[in-house]
Amino acid sequence: MAEGEFKLINRLFKGAGGSAKGFTSFGIGDDGSIHKPTAACELVVSTDSSVQNVHWPDDFSLDKAADRAVCSALSDLAAMGAEPVCVWLNVMAVDSTAVELLGQGATAALRRYDVELAGGDTSKSATNAVSVTVAGELPAGSAMRRDGAKTGDVVWLCGKLGFHAAGLKQWFDKEYDGLFIQHFETLTPQLQAGIALRERGIACCIDVSDGLLQDAEHICHASKIGMELEINKVPDWAYLSDQLGESAALNNVMQGGEDYALLFTAPAHMAFPDELALKIGHCRQKPGVALLLNGKKVDIGSKGYDHFS
Ligand code: ADP
Ligand code: MG
Repeated sequence: MAEGEFKLINRLFKGAGGSAKGFTSFGIGDDGSIHKPTAACELVVSTDSSVQNVHWPDDFSLDKAADRAVCSALSDLAAMGAEPVCVWLNVMAVDSTAVELLGQGATAALRRYDVELAGGDTSKSATNAVSVTVAGELPAGSAMRRDGAKTGDVVWLCGKLGFHAAGLKQWFDKEYDGLFIQHFETLTPQLQAGIALRERGIACCIDVSDGLLQDAEHICHASKIGMELEINKVPDWAYLSDQLGESAALNNVMQGGEDYALLFTAPAHMAFPDELALKIGHCRQKPGVALLLNGKKVDIGSKGYDHFS
């Protein structure tokens, strides 16, 4: 790297994220960052890797890929209802141009959500990749978790499903001005909604990253319950099935990943405005996830994206 590694790191990363909150007392510039957690709060920490050709297509721009990687990591905080306090960013890049693009995209996302970049690592690599570690705070004991659902709870969905997969297909088909492309290129973590749900006392939530079926099963497994979901109640179902055909719409919603909607359960007496979430089913004792489409049972084969299958 002609500029020199340390100059490059300082220029690209020091102070380049969102504003510092009280949580970080010392950020980029030493062997580690120093933090002061807020009293009576717990810290939620999550880490995610995104790799070129695995998580984004080879011909997708690196800055947008890194932006999406940060957003998808922040979505894990949204799912648990935490308020982001800082992020650590590992950049693995084939050359300094790639470091620059990945850094620009990641820091742009952090500024958009006003989250501080507290540190990270920068390394040369055979493949471009970023790894994002996020930390968020919430009042002790209030985190929404996958094991919080109860028989009789109503299942709600906040955000869209199936749009990312439709956009990804358009990208592969080179329809760069397609209706769904924007949903593939940009990703919106539902941070405000996650915090609002946690403040309402919601106990169970997950962000749908691997398709509705797989992520609903994660809740069922952790909570030892089953679910019945009505696919035609998923937001924009009629629009999706008009545009894509029923079978492709079904696949996208159930198995397409990366929409990052929030799937949560709430006691039957609770109500939420349509702008926040829609009811898509209920929890029951019988294990497994049953799917209904226009009142009829449907059975779909494979479950969702699995890196090693
Ligand atoms: P060390 O050799 O101690 O691991 P580095 O040279 O890797 O230190 O990093 C120097 C400083 O720059 C550290 O404070 C580190 O957190 C920060 N840093 C390095 N790469 C990144 C990055 N991609 N994003 C944010 N901060 C970074
Ligand atoms: Mg290092």
